[in-house]
Amino acid sequence: MGVKLDLEKFEFSGVDNKRPLVMAGPCSAETEEQVMETARQLKEIGIHIFRAGIWKPRTRPNTFEGVGKEGLPWLKRVQSELGMLTATEVANASHVFEALKYHVDILWIGARTTANPFAVQEIADALEGVDIPVLIKNPVNPDVELWIGAFERLNQAGIKKMAAIHRGFSTYGKSFYRNDPQWQIPIELKRRIPNLPMITDPSHICGNRELLFEISQEAMDLNFDGLIIESHICPDKAISDASQQLTPYALKELLDKLVLRKPNIENSIMMHTLEDLRQEIDKYDDKLLDILAARMNVAEKIGRYKKENNLTILQSGRWDELLRERSEKGVKKGLSEDFILKVLRAIHQESINRQTKVMNE
Ligand code: PEP
Ligand code: MN
Repeated sequence: MGVKLDLEKFEFSGVDNKRPLVMAGPCSAETEEQVMETARQLKEIGIHIFRAGIWKPRTRPNTFEGVGKEGLPWLKRVQSELGMLTATEVANASHVFEALKYHVDILWIGARTTANPFAVQEIADALEGVDIPVLIKNPVNPDVELWIGAFERLNQAGIKKMAAIHRGFSTYGKSFYRNDPQWQIPIELKRRIPNLPMITDPSHICGNRELLFEISQEAMDLNFDGLIIESHICPDKAISDASQQLTPYALKELLDKLVLRKPNIENSIMMHTLEDLRQEIDKYDDKLLDILAARMNVAEKIGRYKKENNLTILQSGRWDELLRERSEKGVKKGLSEDFILKVLRAIHQESINRQTKVMNE
């Protein structure tokens, strides 16, 4: 389905609109002093857009759920005394009304809210006729249509200044990142809506400040437009998301270290070199397709043989053995285990599909 959004440029006066657009501030507004001092230090390092959560969607009850509207006057002070733009999360109509009452400059919709079309529609209805920029985080589940749907709902309510926040996706069990980046999803959103700015949220992807640089650099290398990073004057004392926040000064170091590469091919030497390498890739892709087709033909033959001999398709001992042996071989060749397992599982699934077809003939 095509996506038609009526968008205006995501730019702000008084803000350096060069890539990357950086927004920073604490996970949660905790006290007036913490908000003011964090904002003051962030301004000092050149940040113009201050984020702070006022209402916090926490996974479990009986934890700190944000200071609530009591924190809105603090954001107002950041705006009037420091001249920064302020941004906060809204999850329902009453949050919207309260935030608008205090002239918050930018609103964002959190990942759990984006996953719920009723809540997104409620926010869209509350914003009908209001001219305010809105950022929409990816839904917690890796569903690009749901993410697109949220932009459509807001746009239909008249919101034209929008940007996407890529904050990673929930996975079951232990994983390296707090929320798996699954870069192919923001890349797909950019392909579907090219003029929608993409802002990466390394804090919620990483869950750990040690990893922030790497994810921020990767976002820049994908030519994404901005970063939203949690920053706290005393990260270890933060009431929420302590391990992923960093001080404004550490944030400056991170930003200074980023390498901003050129998005466009600038001269004919570059173009020819890349062209040659791309032709090489094309050749390998052709070979891969031939090999995959040949492999599936063998799978069909096996299916036929199993049918004739009344055997089940799956002999799990064989699959287990194959997975282990091939992934070891792949790792020796310099491929990551995660990648090989994904490829092998996809091949195995297709092979089962082909054999099932034969069985049903
Ligand atoms: C946040 O930005 O503090 C937040 C709650 O994020 P998310 O919706 O991505 O979990
Ligand atoms: Mn947070």
